[in-house]
Amino acid sequence: MKRILIKNGLVMNRQFDTEQKDILIEGKTIRDIRADLHADGAEVIDAAGKIVMPGLVDTHRHVWESILRHIGTDWSLPQYLENIYYGNLGSQLSTEDMYIANLWGALEALDAGVTTLFDYSMLETPEHADAAIKGLEDAGIRAVFAHGVSGRGEYWDRESEKRHPAEDARRVKKEYFQSEDQLLTMALGVRGPEFSAWETAVDDIKLAAELDAIASMHIGFGAWGPHDRSITRLNEAGLLTDRLNLVHVNRIQLEEYRLIAESGASLSVTPEVEMMMGHGYPATGQLHRHKGLVTLGVDVVVSTAGDLFTQMKFALQAERARQNEQILDRGEMPEQLGLTVKDVLAFATRDGAKALGLGHKTGTLEPGMEADITIIDPSSFNLHPLNQSPAGAVVQSARPENVDTVLTAGRIVKQNGRLVKDVSRLREQVAQASENVFLRQHKNREVNAD
Ligand SMILES: [Zn+2]
Repeated sequence: MKRILIKNGLVMNRQFDTEQKDILIEGKTIRDIRADLHADGAEVIDAAGKIVMPGLVDTHRHVWESILRHIGTDWSLPQYLENIYYGNLGSQLSTEDMYIANLWGALEALDAGVTTLFDYSMLETPEHADAAIKGLEDAGIRAVFAHGVSGRGEYWDRESEKRHPAEDARRVKKEYFQSEDQLLTMALGVRGPEFSAWETAVDDIKLAAELDAIASMHIGFGAWGPHDRSITRLNEAGLLTDRLNLVHVNRIQLEEYRLIAESGASLSVTPEVEMMMGHGYPATGQLHRHKGLVTLGVDVVVSTAGDLFTQMKFALQAERARQNEQILDRGEMPEQLGLTVKDVLAFATRDGAKALGLGHKTGTLEPGMEADITIIDPSSFNLHPLNQSPAGAVVQSARPENVDTVLTAGRIVKQNGRLVKDVSRLREQVAQASENVFLRQHKNREVNAD
């Protein structure tokens, strides 16, 4: 069994305090964390002076959008939906494009220290599901593949009667997700009560339960968020449980945050895109106040950066600004800040892992856990000197280029600041896939105009 010894790193514990220690990895598992460990024949990674932290966990991303990067940096939410959904760009990928897109998006995440990724997919055919899964698998990332529906309008109408394609979801479960002992697990990316009819949403959530999969849905945001009362409805129907992952939830009734917290359902905050596109103000503090399960996601790289450092910083400062404003409105000054960098690190690591049903495998550095590890080199201008504030440095200033080494389940995927996988040919394939999608969309528009 392969052994790796990470020497003399500043190792982050559950509380995100650091102490100089060694980590011994055997196979995919962390065996020991202590000072002065020795292991004959182990591959040694010298981490002296570097921050050794749990790999980051992104709980909400549409990974395939990597090939459409930055086309929507000035889009509102209605513009985003119109361009990507309703049979437009999201429905123009060939299966090969889907494979390339997911591979590239997952590698981007790994390069930025994200070792676990929740992929809310958009699937035109069963073969697209196969391609999306293969892309994640070939990247070597830990991922939750959320089987999703087609991007066509008949699925995304608020009154859609079209049920989630159950037959294909069952096939995918059977073909790819029979073992617990693998990097990939399965969820269901359902539309929920705000992007389909109520009865459809109920049936889709029941399908997720049948598959023993978490049901993830975009919910409780935009102009309809305050009126739909979806959280209350789900609760009254007995469907609001810890098997739901709720995305955004910016604009619900205040008492509904308490319902979410009590149910154990998780919240994926994607703060940058929420503030930008018009989802509403990030709900980080509203759920955290009730001790609910807050996690973070990038969501859409068509509009924002693809690293979780950016999202941690956005989440933190947006919530601080909200709380400070309330205090200022009372004519007072904030004597201390309500949310800390360590709170946000918890959202981006162990709480994210818990939300995805992976808390027993990843999210913390402890003996018995699988070795999902991100090592940050703090010698660059933006991080040096550390001044005993590694947690603060990671949240406030770290960037993907500071990520020196990444391991997923004990396998080194990035070392000395470079991905182990050679991506030179892939880079060309990504450009080609992107071009293919725009060409098909162009033809699609012409056909529709005729
Ligand atoms: Zn999303």
